[in-house]
Amino acid sequence: MNCPLCDELQTSKWSEDQFRPYFACRHCSLVFVPQDFFLSPEDERKRYDTHENDEHDQRYREYLTKVASGITPFISKGQKGLDFGCGSSTLMAKIMEEFDYKMDSYDLYYHPSTPIWSQKYDFIVLSEVIEHLSSLRETMMKLAGLLSTDGQFFIKTKFLPQTKEQFDVWYYKKDPTHICFFNAQSMGELARVLGMNGPETNQDLSRLWF
Ligand SMILES: [Zn+2]
Repeated sequence: MNCPLCDELQTSKWSEDQFRPYFACRHCSLVFVPQDFFLSPEDERKRYDTHENDEHDQRYREYLTKVASGITPFISKGQKGLDFGCGSSTLMAKIMEEFDYKMDSYDLYYHPSTPIWSQKYDFIVLSEVIEHLSSLRETMMKLAGLLSTDGQFFIKTKFLPQTKEQFDVWYYKKDPTHICFFNAQSMGELARVLGMNGPETNQDLSRLWF
């Protein structure tokens, strides 16, 4: 089975639970769920509908404000960003606008008609999104094509635990919509695939830049 990130064939089954197997790539260290075990789009949507990302929930606002504060040191006022995979809420964009940035919000299920594919962005944020991507390499290459010449990605995802024993009991893999898992090496491979620099990672937030 080819690795969905580096496209190498050096992959093998690494772990398994009652729901699905997990493969690991010996070339780039990505751990991934084979396509046969992906949820259908209908089941995926149902699962996302249970997420309670209420814009008026103070804790959700605080959480997103913290994500935003990890990004703002690296961007300039007035720059335009994209919150890719925003979910049902566009609160991240509202918070960034309060900080004087412009931001579009796109989500395959909740905000699919935002015309992002004809735009250019100075930065693209994927906050708890990349672990859901069913066409990882293709989607990231398409998004990289939307970045300006000095554009940046900010990718928030939990990095893999150090050992298989820790992975086997890891809460993050229990979400059936989570299908690919990174560490610093696979994030570096993503940068290489996209022709970008990085990663620079701080508290689950990785930055890649041209
Ligand atoms: Zn790989």
